[in-house]
Amino acid sequence: MPIPKTTNMNNQASSLPTLIDPYGRTLDYLRLSVTDRCNFRCYYCMPEEGVEFVPRKELLTYEELTYLTGIFCEMGVRKVRITGGEPFVRKGIMEFLGQLSAISQLRKITVTSNGTLGEEKMDELLRLGITNINISLDSLDKDRFFEMTRRDKFEEVFDCIMALLQKGFEVKLNCVLAEEKNIQDILPFVELTKSYPLSVRFLEEMPFNGKGTFEPPKWNHNAIYAYIAEHYDRIEKLLDEKNSTSTNYMIKGYKGSFGIIPSYSRTFCGTCNRIRLSATGEMRTCLYGPPRANLRDILRAGADKQELKETIHNVVSQKEKDGFQAEKLQASKPKSSMTFLGG
Ligand code: SAM
Ligand code: SF4
Repeated sequence: MPIPKTTNMNNQASSLPTLIDPYGRTLDYLRLSVTDRCNFRCYYCMPEEGVEFVPRKELLTYEELTYLTGIFCEMGVRKVRITGGEPFVRKGIMEFLGQLSAISQLRKITVTSNGTLGEEKMDELLRLGITNINISLDSLDKDRFFEMTRRDKFEEVFDCIMALLQKGFEVKLNCVLAEEKNIQDILPFVELTKSYPLSVRFLEEMPFNGKGTFEPPKWNHNAIYAYIAEHYDRIEKLLDEKNSTSTNYMIKGYKGSFGIIPSYSRTFCGTCNRIRLSATGEMRTCLYGPPRANLRDILRAGADKQELKETIHNVVSQKEKDGFQAEKLQASKPKSSMTFLGG
């Protein structure tokens, strides 16, 4: 079906937040996956070999992504995070970000990347007013980095982080922790915040490695905090942003901060404001739960804007209380890879 060209939908009446779930939470944050493809193979996200990516025609086109995002914004979404897969491996991503930044109701666009974007794209992001970026980095040791990502790219990613800071981006690092992988990196990461104004966030591993086997993480949020507290007596608790998934701290006198994200323990669900759209159009209201609708299919079947809005409302009205309830709805243990769900 032909998609209306305009993205300027600044209509006061239709901008009111209407996405309120059964538990009274206003959903105003859309996590938009633009691709399932990636140039890395992080062990906790994808198998090393044999990943079957979806055919390109099954991915939402940029035009469809912009149109759907515009509809979400008419319904109250104010922040979009671009994720994947690796967003910067998809051709045309910068033009797409340009289109998104023209949506008048959007207050903030942020990006999550593995840090292989290159300086040209950084400058373009700044031109578009995109100044917040999350970079995944699981180790400060070149060999461990290789072991975890299966790519020899440590220097490139580290240089990228330094360049982002120099250009004035607000940078958060995401570090997934696991026993026998990178526990020895916790303290070096905290020390990195001594000299650099960035935030390092330690994540519990989640069961989305694409293999279907998973053990609950030994290094949960309590263990991570206890370990850091054993080594520092000058930890200061910071005020967390509303809807934050991380609990944030800093070492007194350091330039940056660190946070802990209980991504497996799911203690933050009570304030969840998220909606997720996968690169193939699956709409979820929880990472742990099943897709509730496929907006690509509905759009390609010829639905008009009203029908899409009704579908979105219907999905939101089924949002689960928390990630544990959502997980119960999955027929079997989740086998999905984060790259297909959209991180
Ligand atoms: N490629 C980009 C990146 O790596 O930042 C964006 C997509 S990635 C799927 C988004 C985030 O999900 C990353 O911070 C990554 O570390 C995290 N992630 C992926 N699989 C995970 C898992 N099984 N447990 C915890 N975090 C995971
Ligand atoms: Fe790629 Fe990001 Fe998944 Fe690593 S976490 S394999 S960089 S999508």
